[in-house]
Order: sequence, then structure tokens, then C-alpha cells
Amino acid sequence: MQVHVNGECIGCGMCASVCPNEFFMTDGGTAAAFSPEVGDDLADQVQAAADGCPVSAIEVR
Ligand code: SF4
Repeated sequence: MQVHVNGECIGCGMCASVCPNEFFMTDGGTAAAFSPEVGDDLADQVQAAADGCPVSAIEVR
């Protein structure tokens, strides 16, 4: 799985709470991914974060 946080992020912090091993909040107040490549161990958490993002800023494929 690949993940990318796009420019729509409003900085709600949800993804970093749901999956702190993949998402963190930057000094600018928006989220970013530690790695664009997500291993199987984190795939479910990352998908849950993507599904729950209020502005669909987390793109997975
Ligand atoms: S859940 Fe979406 S809007 Fe909220 S911090 Fe993460 S990427 Fe940004």
C-alpha cells in the first residue's frame, strides 16, 4: 500500500491518533506520513485513518 497526505488536510489530528506509527503532525499544523510505503502490519490502521479523514486528504492505493 502507498499513502500520501494531500493539501486538503485541515490538521484535525485524527490520523496521527489512529495510526501514530505512520502519521505525524508537522510544525505547520498539518499531517504527514513517515513513509510513503505502508507495510501489511499498518495497512488496516492506515486505511481506517484514510476512511475517517473528514476532508479525504489521505490518499491510499
Ligand atoms: S485526518 Fe485528515 S484532516 Fe485530519 S490531520 Fe489527518 S490528514 Fe489532516
